[in-house]
Amino acid sequence: MPNFQIPQVQKVAIVQKTGGTIEIQKDYPVRQQNQLAPGECLIKMEASGCCHTDLHAAIGDWPIAPMTPLIGGHEGVGIVVAIGSNTNASPVQLGDRVGIKWLADSCLNCEDCRKGREQNCASAKLSGYTVDGTFAEYAVSYVNHVTPIPEGFPSDAAASILCAGVTVYRAIKYSQTSAGDWIVLPGAGGGLGHLAVQYARARGLRVIAIDSGAEKKKLTLSLGAEVWIDFKESKDIVADVRLATGGYGAHSAVVTAAHSSGYTQALDYLRPGATLMAVGLPGTSTLNASIFFTVFKSISILGSYVGNRQDAREALDLAARGKVKVHFITKDLKELQNVYDGMAAGKVAGRVVFDLKK
Ligand code: NAD
Ligand code: ZN
Repeated sequence: MPNFQIPQVQKVAIVQKTGGTIEIQKDYPVRQQNQLAPGECLIKMEASGCCHTDLHAAIGDWPIAPMTPLIGGHEGVGIVVAIGSNTNASPVQLGDRVGIKWLADSCLNCEDCRKGREQNCASAKLSGYTVDGTFAEYAVSYVNHVTPIPEGFPSDAAASILCAGVTVYRAIKYSQTSAGDWIVLPGAGGGLGHLAVQYARARGLRVIAIDSGAEKKKLTLSLGAEVWIDFKESKDIVADVRLATGGYGAHSAVVTAAHSSGYTQALDYLRPGATLMAVGLPGTSTLNASIFFTVFKSISILGSYVGNRQDAREALDLAARGKVKVHFITKDLKELQNVYDGMAAGKVAGRVVFDLKK
């Protein structure tokens, strides 16, 4: 049985109150083994991705408020170094390398959990939102929901699969598309979007990437998008999509833009029978859908919210086998505010991953 030395204090990135500045605190307490409840585990973090959701949490622009003070982060990978006493039949053991995703825990027994929509569980705990997250050297999580990381898959390369990857993997899985269909990805150059390009390609879909700027254009085309549309330069996005799809429009759109503008044209560039997958989460916007054309074109409008434990394993498996790769740069946690600023300005192509081993 490995015996881990667990320090009393650690470095974390913390927001004292919503909308406030991020502080790096170096003497934040580490929960010790005897302070863990049954079912809880302590993870020594190695890497954490930075999702746009963490930015929403820090500025508080969603209708459901996060807790404060808040340690954000929900795309983490690390080692299990302690497990709460009296934890029954833990699926993970000390020394295992595991991932922490947005859905930190759920009851596993309610109707939503039983139906595989664990993320909709009324007792769901959310990493970096309703419980402290992964922007820390040590994070407390839950044995039933941490995800085993396939051997040989580096922690920094795996981290962003735990949210960005799982989320778009599931959204595409339920997008009612088949190989050869056209899928439009507004937000394609961002964290979720660039993985969506690859999960879509892995399913044989033809990708139209929508985002802005030379770097995101190069990234999405290099990952297999066939068509690029710059939403800041295009004079008519609907016409551009129709032109690319032989006049009919696309079979699906998976919108990962964090802004409502990513949604506005979607119903017009989709063909009859198509599916609009809402993923990006502008906090207060509404989706303006023509009822007439939604009916007349038999359009499905679906919301897709992260994924369950099985989605996490499937998304990680494809990535560990090299079918999908996170395009990331590594930064120190003290850069968090700068990363948020870059993300708000649409300047982050792919992902930023924090190295938490230092
Ligand atoms: P990101 O900032 O990395 O990527 C968003 C991308 O959208 C950027 O590249 C930006 O340039 C682009 N964009 C903005 N306006 C656009 C427009 N009009 N058309 C096309 N592209 C546009 O963010 P991310 O980490 O990928 O997260 C995206 C959104 O998804 C956030 O709102 C986040 O909270 C949400 N999210 C949802 C889920 C879920 O379960 N549904 C899970 C994770 C994240
Ligand atoms: Zn996320």
